[in-house]
Amino acid sequence: MHEFSVAKQVCDKALEILDEEDMEKVVDVYVGIGKLSHINEKQFRFCFNNIKKNFVALEESDLSVNEKDVSIECDCGYKGVIEINDFEEIPNKFKCPKCDDPNPSIEKGDEVIIEKIKLED
Ligand SMILES: [Zn+2]
Repeated sequence: MHEFSVAKQVCDKALEILDEEDMEKVVDVYVGIGKLSHINEKQFRFCFNNIKKNFVALEESDLSVNEKDVSIECDCGYKGVIEINDFEEIPNKFKCPKCDDPNPSIEKGDEVIIEKIKLED
């Protein structure tokens, strides 16, 4: 399952940051999920909560999820956020709002990142 491997990566990354900062516990993890990342938030939470139980430093942490907009950069010069209405039914195709190019390059929106993390010593 896609959500499981992404949740695992987020947990690994959180533990890595914890280690780098030389702290004891992860309190809050804020994750930004791009609308094009094909992540189902409910499943992602479920996976995160299952994985964190395996780590003492992570088991009490809270997860916050932020849905991130999609930005494109098109050959016509258009650059900006585009509207994607339904998060559940992720479109595989969308167009540049200016020139209708069906394949604008995605600048942002297909990533899953830790935006912020709160640690405790
Ligand atoms: Zn365009």
